[in-house]
Amino acid sequence: MCAANRIAKINRMAALSESDLLAGVPDQLFIGGKWVASLTGSTLDVADPSTGTTIKSIADASAGDARAAMDAAADAQADWATTPARQRGELLRRAFDLLQERKDQFALLMTLEMGKPVAEALSEVAYGGEFLRWFSEEAVRISGRYGTNPEGTGRVIVTHRPVGPCYLITPWNFPLAMATRKIAPALAAGCTVIIKPASLTPLTTLYFAKLLEEVGLPAGVVNVVTTASSGDISEPILADPRLRKLSFTGSTPVGVSLLKQAADGVLRTSMELGGNAPFIVFEDADLGRAVDGAMSAKFRNIGQACTAGNRFIVQASIAEEFTARVTERVKALKVGRGTEEGVAVGPLIDERAIAKVSALLEDAVARGAKVHTGGSAIDREGTFFEPTVISGVKPGSDILSEEIFGPVMSITTFTDEADAVRTANDTQYGLVGYVFTRDLARGQRLIDSLETGMMGLNIGMLSNAAAPFGGVKQSGLGREGGLEGIHEYLSPKYTLTPDPFA
Ligand code: NAP
Repeated sequence: MCAANRIAKINRMAALSESDLLAGVPDQLFIGGKWVASLTGSTLDVADPSTGTTIKSIADASAGDARAAMDAAADAQADWATTPARQRGELLRRAFDLLQERKDQFALLMTLEMGKPVAEALSEVAYGGEFLRWFSEEAVRISGRYGTNPEGTGRVIVTHRPVGPCYLITPWNFPLAMATRKIAPALAAGCTVIIKPASLTPLTTLYFAKLLEEVGLPAGVVNVVTTASSGDISEPILADPRLRKLSFTGSTPVGVSLLKQAADGVLRTSMELGGNAPFIVFEDADLGRAVDGAMSAKFRNIGQACTAGNRFIVQASIAEEFTARVTERVKALKVGRGTEEGVAVGPLIDERAIAKVSALLEDAVARGAKVHTGGSAIDREGTFFEPTVISGVKPGSDILSEEIFGPVMSITTFTDEADAVRTANDTQYGLVGYVFTRDLARGQRLIDSLETGMMGLNIGMLSNAAAPFGGVKQSGLGREGGLEGIHEYLSPKYTLTPDPFA
């Protein structure tokens, strides 16, 4: 970003008052087009992880509220499915336009409830908004097939029908994008939804529901339930025979348990789960590009991304130089509250995250890993952890098999391509892999041999609304975005009619 743009952005953000913004965020549930208190009257506190202080109290839904949301989504389904695709698309497009007008507000809100630096929050608004624009365009392109059967005795007609009411569950790490990545294709396809954001970051979804209300979305098409008791409110929704689909983004263990619940209702499911991304650097790579890629793959979102590089696997001949160059860059990262100028690394989401990252690091160091920079939680208000680089991580260390979800770069080495592929695939996860090489044929071989749903070839960041995002193995089922994304919310329907000339 050029200096003039950066200064303009800082001036705009400074003009926003945090308290005015928070006051404008709804604090109730959004059910059937109305803002309502929870039936029990209980509330849920939302904290700023950079200070630990409560920034807003909102409605804490109970099972009764969940049933009301299910009723609203089911009641709105038939009308929404028959609303012309152009109208559905134009509503999404208006939502995209209004989101652009409010991008600073959405960005600041995400920084306040989740902690990411404002510049990254603005990037999330851009990324999250693209799902609204992309699926506003896809809504009118839901196509079918018409043809003669091979026997010549009939005509085959294939159409695509909306699956029906959907339950969407989102995580805290990308509060806007994970919501729009589900809501936009569902609405484009003609499905109504109930969305349950993470209890740690529910404000962005409430603020987005307000935006949808303003652009004229019919009552009941999107319903929002916020809660501190996710299991209790999900149970009646998942057990309701009117629900047709569950789309979940979050950790693999919770995804597995929800899949079991979804099995009882034979629900369609989309699962965007955890990752353990290998980041492989071959000795023929453009090292400058690899270091840039490593910095964004690791430290974006404070390391709290499913696509974060989790295992940096570097060819032994260049490992020392790679480690020295990333260490120099990591030492220069500014840590602080996401609203401060120049901050690159904000707080971790909560104390549990600090405990998890600390334990993984302690285990790796106890087994012989070397710390080049960082290494511990920061003794200050909020939940901050030092940006860290370790190398010489020994096989069997927990940090190689678990998602770190923090600003820790863990480096190991490999000898040849076969060794790199074996090491990279030695995990239950298969979301994304990163490969840095100048050898085109090798890059192409890696596309086939890495067991992942996505791959960054000489690039450290690849999410895009126009591409199918998703994993294999225990990283999930289904794809979000791209041409594939809308089909997660459509069921093909095959009809046969006799040969009209017979
Ligand atoms: P999480 O603990 O699995 O929670 C995700 C969502 O599930 C939250 O809304 C949570 O609500 C809810 N939840 C938890 N237990 C539930 C239950 N028993 N029934 C119904 N809902 C339940 O994950 P997280 O810590 O928020 O997010 C981090 C994880 O998400 C990481 O593993 C990351 O890799 C993954 N992720 C994957 C992708 C992807 O596209 N593949 C993208 C982003 C993140 P509460 O907040 O109330 O617990």
